Amino acid sequence: ATPTAIMVGTGLGAMNGILYKNATALEQASKVEAIIFDKTGTLTVGEPKVVEVAASGNPILEEELLKLVASAEQSSEHPLAQAVVDLAREQHLTLSEPTDFEAIPGHGLRAAVDGRTLLVGNRKLMRESGVELDGLGERAASLEGAGRTVVYAAADGEAAGFIAIADAIRPTSQKAVEELGDLGVQVAMLTGDNRATAERIAGELGVGTVFAEVLPGQKADKVRELQDEGKLVAMVGDGINDAPALAQADVGVAIGAGTDVAMEAADVVLMKSDPSDVIGAIALSRATVRKMK
Ligand code: ADP
Ligand code: MG
Repeated sequence: ATPTAIMVGTGLGAMNGILYKNATALEQASKVEAIIFDKTGTLTVGEPKVVEVAASGNPILEEELLKLVASAEQSSEHPLAQAVVDLAREQHLTLSEPTDFEAIPGHGLRAAVDGRTLLVGNRKLMRESGVELDGLGERAASLEGAGRTVVYAAADGEAAGFIAIADAIRPTSQKAVEELGDLGVQVAMLTGDNRATAERIAGELGVGTVFAEVLPGQKADKVRELQDEGKLVAMVGDGINDAPALAQADVGVAIGAGTDVAMEAADVVLMKSDPSDVIGAIALSRATVRKMK
């Protein structure tokens, strides 16, 4: 490898908001055969907003549901929690301090609020806790089929309602997926979110391989699965729980607007937080490698 080609490639990258952390990253990016994108915060903007609050009605109504869930979510650092707390603040609801708060990774949380035991999280959490969704299930399923993430709540073991949340797809995500396909690169999406929501978003973007309902500790395993098929794999992510997968990937790529932990674990950082910049990262790497021969 000629040092000059590396220097030119690194410099051109930096001018375009693509930071290669080392020469290996610049060389490896040219050989990527499969690329896995995290969903939330990578293919989507990562600023989820509540679009619907639905209470079971007996005895909890919408406003109380929002107040209970937002009270519990105050103690969570999850982006979904932020969306719920933001809406409660907009509505000037007075929130209570939760007690006995416990985050349940990949599922949601458990907490006591106003004398009630709350369980807040995904469908899997409700199923595993024996909560029957009854009348709520159908509407929630249709929202999930439309790409929304539904946060379910149970109070004292009974379904209390759900809060549906939308996170806009980044404007360049579709172009990124399309052009990677044109380059002959396999495109996959990885998320802890439920399968219906994930499939809908993958469908909109044209992503062929979907890993959904993946627990935070298992994200790196999905990278390894593709590597075990003999592929050189890149992973693009933004979150703390993407870091092990970024480290496992042959080329770890972090979104600039993401967490410091992700950027530290990555080999390449996309400063403009534009997922389609991975195309530029691969193209520049290919040009650099050609010059080195
Ligand atoms: P991701 O970052 O891909 O959403 P996580 O493992 O953080 O993956 O979460 C997986 C799923 O667990 C979320 O999509 C959500 O349904 C549920 N979940 C996790 N934390 C919370 C929370 N604080 N409030 C509500 N739901 C949650
Ligand atoms: Mg993410």
